[in-house]
Amino acid sequence: MIDFSLSEQQKAFQKTARDFAAKEIAPVALDYDRNPRFPGEIIRKAHSAGLMNLTCPKEYGGQGLGLVDSSVINEELNAACVAISGMIGINSLACGPILCGGSPEQKKRFLLPLNQSGKTASFGLTEREAGSDAGGLKTRAKLEGDHYVLTGQKCFITNASYAELYTIFATIDPSKGTKGICGFVVPRESPGLSVGKVEDKMGQRSLNVAEVILENVVVPRENLLGNEGEGFKWAMEALDEGRVNIATVGLGLARAAFEAALSYAKTRVQFGRPIGTHQGLNFMLADMAAAVESARLLTWYAGSLADQHKRFTREAAQAKFYATDVAMRVTTDAVQIHGGYGYTKDFVVEKLMRDAKLTQIYEGTNQINRMVAGGALMR
Ligand SMILES: Cc1cc2nc3c(=O)[nH]c(=O)nc-3n(C[C@H](O)[C@H](O)[C@H](O)COP(=O)(O)OP(=O)(O)OC[C@H]3O[C@@H](n4cnc5c(N)ncnc54)[C@H](O)[C@@H]3O)c2cc1C
Repeated sequence: MIDFSLSEQQKAFQKTARDFAAKEIAPVALDYDRNPRFPGEIIRKAHSAGLMNLTCPKEYGGQGLGLVDSSVINEELNAACVAISGMIGINSLACGPILCGGSPEQKKRFLLPLNQSGKTASFGLTEREAGSDAGGLKTRAKLEGDHYVLTGQKCFITNASYAELYTIFATIDPSKGTKGICGFVVPRESPGLSVGKVEDKMGQRSLNVAEVILENVVVPRENLLGNEGEGFKWAMEALDEGRVNIATVGLGLARAAFEAALSYAKTRVQFGRPIGTHQGLNFMLADMAAAVESARLLTWYAGSLADQHKRFTREAAQAKFYATDVAMRVTTDAVQIHGGYGYTKDFVVEKLMRDAKLTQIYEGTNQINRMVAGGALMR
């Protein structure tokens, strides 16, 4: 038997997240879109409410939840505003490599103070010439005695302007490809580390994204995650969970757009009856509902494999590309259902459609996620 119902505890998490989203995020979502800024106060409240660092073990200051639990919570926050919830949730990706590759001592040293204080981190993999082909990164790490010296430039780094620490990927030898890549924890105050251009984006406007510049940054040897050459592995493992989280971003966006469209279709009257009763739109709404629900099931399925400590790389990639393609389609259809009003800033569906586009691009474009899933099928 398959039971799709949530446990009492999961229902309680869902309610906490839904109430928080309704009180703290939804009322300001449009304002944060029009006037992009750091949602510091909302992050502080989310931390107090136990809505941050969801899957990080309790011994390292996290909530110790499973990936299905966190997906249930994230769907609620994402349905209110994905830019704000992205800033609340960034630690799960940023700290993923520390959880995957760090020693117990490193986890305690880096994660405990970060998580207890409610501060945030960043994940630094992408470079101008190494996006989809992240294994081709050029940031160099040179071992000099008891420390490494890092030189290079990262781009599109979420939360870069506000991070307390960065997980940075750099190579000790570019000729070794991915086998030369190492993962480091780099504190914000490290001399030589600076934040460059902040991106001005189409959507998810309050999701801070900027360059990280590393000029002869000295990183103690004890900040290397695992062994030399293992960094790419830690980055990819962190992205498995990250992709389930991005699937919940797609899911939250799609759900919000569907709910807005359904409500509008019930009240807007043309040709003497609600537009949702015209078959052209009625079928569109039926397709939207099915897409939202199937995206949720794929997301929960990938999360449930992770919770059972099974390999979930393919399922995470599938959930990511499916749920985010659903987000793009459903938000676009929601604008269509609103007609001319949907194209104005008076209705939220315009924001949802802009926000959705990014979900098909970050944490591996949907082409790359299809390559991950397709590659696994052929092995
Ligand atoms: C807002 C935002 C936030 C981000 N946050 C982070 C972050 O926190 N940390 C981080 O490290 N990175 C982050 N990224 C980077 C993101 O992961 C990359 O943008 C993404 O991986 C794509 O790389 P690219 O932009 O260089 O595109 P490219 O790799 O240049 O791709 C361009 C196009 O070519 C396609 N393509 C490339 N190779 C193939 C192939 N083999 N087969 C088929 N199609 C292909 C792509 O799918 C895409 O359509 C973020 C990006 C954005 C926009």
